[in-house]
Parts: sequence; structure tokens; C-alpha cells
Amino acid sequence: MSNQSFAARTYRDDAVVLRTHKLGEADRIITLLTHHHGQLRAVARGVRRTSSKFGARLEPFMVADLQLVRGRTLDIVTQAVAKGSYGDAIAANYDRYVVAAAMTETAERLTDVDGETSTAHYLLLVGALASLSRGAHSTELILDSYLLRAVSIAGWAPSFGDCARCGDPGPHGAFNAALGGAVCHDCRPPGSPAPAPQTMFLLACLLSGDWAGADASENIHRREAAGLVAGYVQWHLERTVRSLKLVERA
Ligand SMILES: [Zn+2]
Repeated sequence: MSNQSFAARTYRDDAVVLRTHKLGEADRIITLLTHHHGQLRAVARGVRRTSSKFGARLEPFMVADLQLVRGRTLDIVTQAVAKGSYGDAIAANYDRYVVAAAMTETAERLTDVDGETSTAHYLLLVGALASLSRGAHSTELILDSYLLRAVSIAGWAPSFGDCARCGDPGPHGAFNAALGGAVCHDCRPPGSPAPAPQTMFLLACLLSGDWAGADASENIHRREAAGLVAGYVQWHLERTVRSLKLVERA
């Protein structure tokens, strides 16, 4: 690597800033989800100085066109051009900020370096942040739609119609996170929640991106849907973390 010229080690990519943390006196390590290079951590030198050439372009939720140089351990950000001003519009509004933080944390956990699905995760996250910054829909609906689609990209697409276990055509009156969503009368384990039909319809709208259907939903069904989405995502994320821990122990 040391034989390569600076130019040969330079590359460009668009990226969302997922997280930052301090490094030394004036630098930061930036956790990025890039369009084409998966999730990566890069160093931004001098970014905490008021005179920094990066300004606020490397803050969480910002989307930027970056130039990076491959380093020995971490890559180094050498240029950042903001794309859209999502970060500002989100940081100025507490509800949006909390939702954006939940989305970027989920994206960080579901993506990896050069993961096959990371481009799909990148596009989904940028779309959700743009929608959030415009206030296009209720912040909770944007979050729940993002979460359902993110876990689907990760391979855990829920069903809100046909039975997730036996495939019996829906709609069905019960939901079970462990089995993958809607379950028929024969497959439902005891204690499975029995959401309202309107809630199942809302969940299907959020998964498919039917915003006209989702925006027309009532608050009572939005609350019930949010609880089911949280349970579903939690169940799958915890299972992932457990399996990672097993790998580390081995
Ligand atoms: Zn069934």
C-alpha cells in the first residue's frame, strides 16, 4: 500500500454520516454508510476546529459527496460536499432528531463493510432522511416504514397478509414476530397479539410504500402498528446480536 501514490489511493463516494466520535484534540472518526463501499469508518482531521474546511458537513444525518484516501487502518476524508441539507432540518426538530437517530443506529447494525445489501440500505436511509427533513409524513410513520423495509432488505421481510408459517391466504387476525408476521388460526402460537384489521392494513402500506393508505390511518392503529414494528425489529436484531456474540466466543 505504501508504494501506491496518493492519487491511486483516492476514491469518491456518496455517504450518510451515521455517527461520529472524538479522536485526539481536533479530529473525529466518522462512521459512514456509503453508496458503493458499504459501511466504513474514516478519520476527518481537524473537523472539530472552528476553522475546519468541513464545516458541519460531517455531522450525523448529513449526506455528502466525499473524497477519501485509503489509509493503513482507517481511510481519511479529504473533501466533503453536502448533498441536500437533511441534517440541518432534522437537527432543528427534536422529534425528527430522535427518529433519525433510531434509523441511523438500525442502519449501522444492519450493514457491514462491502455488504451485498449495503447499497439498498443506503438508498433506503437517504430516502427516509429526505422524507423526514421535508416533513412529508408523520415522523412515526416514516420510522416504521423505514424499519420494516430495512429488516426486509436484511432478509426478514414480514408478511401482513398470507400466513407467514403455512402460506394460507390472508388476511389473518394474529401476528407473531418470531414466525415472521401474520399467522392463521391453525399456526398462531398462544399469546400472539391480535391486531385490528386496520393495523394490519397500515403495516402492509408501510412495508410497500403505499403512503396514501398509510397517511389515511387513525392514531389508534398507528400506535398499535408501532408496537408491533418495534417488537418485530427488536426480535430480529437481538437474534443477530446473539449470533454475533457466539461467533466472538468461538
Ligand atoms: Zn398458517
